[in-house]
Amino acid sequence: MEKVSTEAAIRAEALRLGFSACGFAKAEPVSDEMAQKLDYWVNNGYHANMAYMERNRHLRLDPTQLVPGCRTLIVVALNYYPQQRIPQEEYQIAYYAYGADYHRVVKDKLHLLLAYIKTLVPEVQGRAFCDTAPLLERYWAVKAGLGFIGLNRTLIIPGKGSYCFLGVLAIDIDLQAEHHNMPISCGNCKRCLIACPTKALTADGIDCRRCLSYLTIEHRGEIPDEYAEKMGNRIYGCDTCQRVCPHNRNAEPAHEPAFALPNEVAALSRDDWHQLSPDRYKALFKNSAIERAGYEGLSRNIKALNK
Ligand code: SF4
Ligand code: SF4
Repeated sequence: MEKVSTEAAIRAEALRLGFSACGFAKAEPVSDEMAQKLDYWVNNGYHANMAYMERNRHLRLDPTQLVPGCRTLIVVALNYYPQQRIPQEEYQIAYYAYGADYHRVVKDKLHLLLAYIKTLVPEVQGRAFCDTAPLLERYWAVKAGLGFIGLNRTLIIPGKGSYCFLGVLAIDIDLQAEHHNMPISCGNCKRCLIACPTKALTADGIDCRRCLSYLTIEHRGEIPDEYAEKMGNRIYGCDTCQRVCPHNRNAEPAHEPAFALPNEVAALSRDDWHQLSPDRYKALFKNSAIERAGYEGLSRNIKALNK
């Protein structure tokens, strides 16, 4: 019988666990070009008030400092494209926040993947990350051959699109990174640049100070009027630059039940959102990604688009 490589066995297990893609990248400092881009982005204030982006630069640029001894980054993508979506005329929340908080879901799966790797290589040690550490996940996803970064700054997986959470398992054994031949650019497409309501997509990356996703989730304080008037019916996040992307045209709904839109949330009318009490909010969004903005943040957003 033909011997299956460790890499192939790990990838097969990742897919069995529900990930849509899995690849391997050598753990090493990021390229000088990447470091310069990040510095430029931060130095020009594109990160808005996310002060954490200014911290731990040395760790962000070198995963071997973040996880001493790590040799390989296993990068995975988990589809969250929802089966059932909130009708266009109702208040919109970003697809990624429809269901359970993804950090836990992705990390739980990565821990299962690590347990599997231990059956192949018992001495392996690893740490799982999903937006929980200074790590340039999209950069490593490209390095691992999962896809390319589009002008909307999401990782685009050819044939699958961009509605994916990224996770990284840093392990202390060498795995063979593979070379992939895949399209690496958006070609002549500019749909996301045109569709972005606040023109937040720049040649240098997303200008978070203008981005409705940032302003409705991470931002504290009032949303400036010039952006509030562009919110349309978005009350949490913004998917516009992904919705218009042709790579998402044939996105397959996710199989992960934790990401499904709960019926009670799907049934909320505009009036219900306006009358949402703190207790009802807690009951509806316990363990949801929407907790990130908090009750006050969500209430602020609803008020902002009705100014
Ligand atoms: S999330 Fe919305 S506001 Fe932000 S860059 Fe994309 S389209 Fe523009
Ligand atoms: S909409 Fe077009 S330009 Fe924007 S990320 Fe998708 S392919 Fe690239």
